[in-house]
Amino acid sequence: MAFNHPMKKPEAPKEPYKSTKKTPQLLRGMRDTLPKDDKYWRAVYGKAQELADAYGFGRIDTPILEEASLFTRAVGRQTDIVEKEMYVFEDKDGEKISLRPEATASVVRAYIQHGMLNLPQPVKLWYWGPMFRHDRPQAGRFRQFTQAGYEIIGDDSPVADAQVILVAYKFYTELGLPVNVQLNSIGTAEDRTRYKVELVNYYRANRSKLCDNCKVRLVKNPMRLLDCKEEGCQPIKENAPRILEFLAEESRKHFMSLLEYLDELSIPYFLNHTLVRGLDYYTKTVFEIWPEPFTPKAEPVAPVDAGPGAVLSVSGAVADETPIVIKEKEPKEAEEAKMPAQVALCGGGRYDLLVEELGGRPTPACGVAPGIERAVQQLRMRQLAVPEINKHELFVAQLGELAKRKALVLFEMLRLEKIPAAEAFSKGSLKFQLEAANEKKIPYALIIGQKEVIDKTVIIRDMDSGIQETVDFQKVVSAVKRKIGRE
Ligand code: AMP
Repeated sequence: MAFNHPMKKPEAPKEPYKSTKKTPQLLRGMRDTLPKDDKYWRAVYGKAQELADAYGFGRIDTPILEEASLFTRAVGRQTDIVEKEMYVFEDKDGEKISLRPEATASVVRAYIQHGMLNLPQPVKLWYWGPMFRHDRPQAGRFRQFTQAGYEIIGDDSPVADAQVILVAYKFYTELGLPVNVQLNSIGTAEDRTRYKVELVNYYRANRSKLCDNCKVRLVKNPMRLLDCKEEGCQPIKENAPRILEFLAEESRKHFMSLLEYLDELSIPYFLNHTLVRGLDYYTKTVFEIWPEPFTPKAEPVAPVDAGPGAVLSVSGAVADETPIVIKEKEPKEAEEAKMPAQVALCGGGRYDLLVEELGGRPTPACGVAPGIERAVQQLRMRQLAVPEINKHELFVAQLGELAKRKALVLFEMLRLEKIPAAEAFSKGSLKFQLEAANEKKIPYALIIGQKEVIDKTVIIRDMDSGIQETVDFQKVVSAVKRKIGRE
């Protein structure tokens, strides 16, 4: 069969389409995930699921909408999440509801509501889904983002804390990301009461040097003083009293055994006395996992897919008005400049009081929530390999109406054998189809033209050498299976 078939005349370039209607835009801080990123999302989801299965976490899905009071009670009224960032509104029945800003509270609600207290403990649950926080968008921070989460409910032993940290650590390292664990204990409520007296005294003595936010924190939520990122507050923070020194015997023992488990598992960690986490429900262990520093090769660029309205300052902090100089780059390089240096990939800890706070029997628990957008960003930024999706091994090409019918059937035969094939059924030109196969670096094309329809055959073309052979239509699947090493 000849391939220099008479071709259609190339079409004249089209005038760009001008609409009189305005296209609705993405909301600020929201983003679309496009097919080009799907391989990363699949790799990350696959790892999250694989680890859940391996460590015995059962899947739970809770709704995106919950009573607003669930989060006010669980996360805490004075926290940034509830006070400033929660999407709350009244529904048509006048009920105050919220888009979930996180899922631990929902998982605990479900644990109580479905009587999981009566199952053999601990109950190990995992989830994956969108969370919503009306925060100021910036690189790596969105208003809708995805979290996976692993919760162990009904276990007060530090081995549960160790397992949660292990799962999170493996999640990143097995995806190829170099990370480190930042660890602290914030003790029990009693430990914190003792500690807060010292902390407040110390900060009061330094009040004049504090940023405005810290002055408010000093009154409203002193533990959050240690969370401040303002340059001027850093020396004060560094020299602040350390909570580990205020832990009572029980909290101290818990923390020491956790460290022993982590040593045994060879999980590297850093004790970080300023890590307190922004949610009220934590007790004892708190931790975050941070990416190891990565030196970008590219110049700073705009955060191309950080979502509309997101602006990155040179330091990585939020800049409200002026974006840094924008230079168009390949998206891969653009990613490199986006992440602030010390951005947490996940956060977690122990929350021994939460089940009781939400109306259940006192039940200790701990968990972790990895942020998925940040994991994907890291994979892309570091150009780490993830499995390709639809790595086609064959291209099904056709010429003529009858051939197209047979090609559709052949494509189905291949699909049933799970042989990934590409096609361009809407195209008539064989040249176009073979060029497409070449572009996608597909090793073999299966071609059906008018002659092949009559002869009930298919041409197998080796795209590298151009060598072709004709095989019986019924035998083509087994013939290509041999060629691509599937037999
Ligand atoms: P948190 O629930 O605040 O402890 O956050 C746990 C993880 O979720 C963080 O370490 C991030 O990876 C991710 N995360 C939290 N907030 C956002 C956000 N606004 N945008 C993107 N990821 C987020």
